[in-house]
Amino acid sequence: MEKLQEFYAEVDEQSAKLEKIHAERLNCKKGCSACCVDDISVFEIEAENIRKNHAELIENENPHEKGMCAFLDKNDACRIYENRPYVCRTQGLPFRWFDEFENELVEFRDICPLNDEGVLIENLAEEKCWTIGEFEAKLAELQKEFGTDELCRIKLRKLFKKN
Ligand code: SF4
Repeated sequence: MEKLQEFYAEVDEQSAKLEKIHAERLNCKKGCSACCVDDISVFEIEAENIRKNHAELIENENPHEKGMCAFLDKNDACRIYENRPYVCRTQGLPFRWFDEFENELVEFRDICPLNDEGVLIENLAEEKCWTIGEFEAKLAELQKEFGTDELCRIKLRKLFKKN
């Protein structure tokens, strides 16, 4: 778990740099839950981190009603913010990633529509975007070290006893 905390610290440091660069366009704030969708899933290492740190919550409290992330509270704030999974730590930033399209590797970009004003994300320098790939690979390595190289994922809602 120590390595996972180090990983989160590195992610937070990198995302904080981008948040500073994009401060004017980012509308992310407590209570905005536009990206807290209901089908988020995590590797066992992140699930275990939540179980360890929020045992009382997942044992005794109700998940948010279906349609949004189970960990939102009634004010649409995250109940596990300090231990939220990797995928939640970069939401709102401009993303870039590569995928195959018509047999070629093509760059794609996306951003939350609430943060889409200002310079077109297609025109941003690559270092001003969060590039998907490197951190995902690091997290997969941590999961393998944690116990299994089966990279199966667990839905966040399933962590609640009353799911
Ligand atoms: S874990 Fe927290 S930040 Fe992540 S989707 Fe759920 S409510 Fe949102």
